[in-house]
Amino acid sequence: MVAGNWKMNTDLQKGLALAEGILQGIKQEMDCEVVLAPPFTHLTELKKKLEGSAIKLGAQNCHCEHSGAYTGEVSAEMLQSAGVEYVITGHSERRQLFHETNEIIRQKVNAILHAGLKVIFCCGETLDVRQSETHNILVRMQMEESLFHLEPEQFKSICIAYEPIWAIGTGVNASPEQAQEMHSYIRDQIAIRYSKFIAEETNILYGGSIKPDNAKSLFVQEDVDGGLVGGASLDAKGFLDIIHAACG
Ligand code: PEP
Repeated sequence: MVAGNWKMNTDLQKGLALAEGILQGIKQEMDCEVVLAPPFTHLTELKKKLEGSAIKLGAQNCHCEHSGAYTGEVSAEMLQSAGVEYVITGHSERRQLFHETNEIIRQKVNAILHAGLKVIFCCGETLDVRQSETHNILVRMQMEESLFHLEPEQFKSICIAYEPIWAIGTGVNASPEQAQEMHSYIRDQIAIRYSKFIAEETNILYGGSIKPDNAKSLFVQEDVDGGLVGGASLDAKGFLDIIHAACG
């Protein structure tokens, strides 16, 4: 699975042109899922553009309540009604810039599942945490506090994106070995909490400075099931090269 997180980039025209460029290079039958997560303002137009293609629509965030007096917010139900299938939550930019805690993310996970959508749950450590060698503990806590209350059946709608914060937008990706080590740890935690079967079925994506020239070396790792791509998803050719690295 490869998901593109456009963040707060592209106006509507540029976003549609970017999607068109990606559509041109995509095969109808692919053995991996491709998701585009544009800004909210692009969702309905992009939904029309992606109709009949193999690309799915994602959103970058949602509020945890269904509706009400929350000026400026968008609920999971609203996203569902716009044709969204996946919602990203737990992204480090939202944790750091918008002070989202594990508890808030837990509520968002519940809201996304309640709306019948799938979750792309981001987790990952800062450089300080990595250097103090407590990254496994931190990622386990992120999962325990935001995900592990779910029933096994619900967990089937969860996809995890391991995104070390020191690798996001920095041009410094985790090495394939570092990614594999953490992905394997995450899979083990899912197996302990749920089952080996559910752990094997869960997509665990890597995110953090994936580029066309490092994608393959990350994706060939046994426990890396694809990628969540930020900067490089804003260039159609580069993003297609990453998709092809994942889809073989
Ligand atoms: C992200 O923000 O999810 C991300 C992985 O960004 P980048 O690829 O630009 O590091």
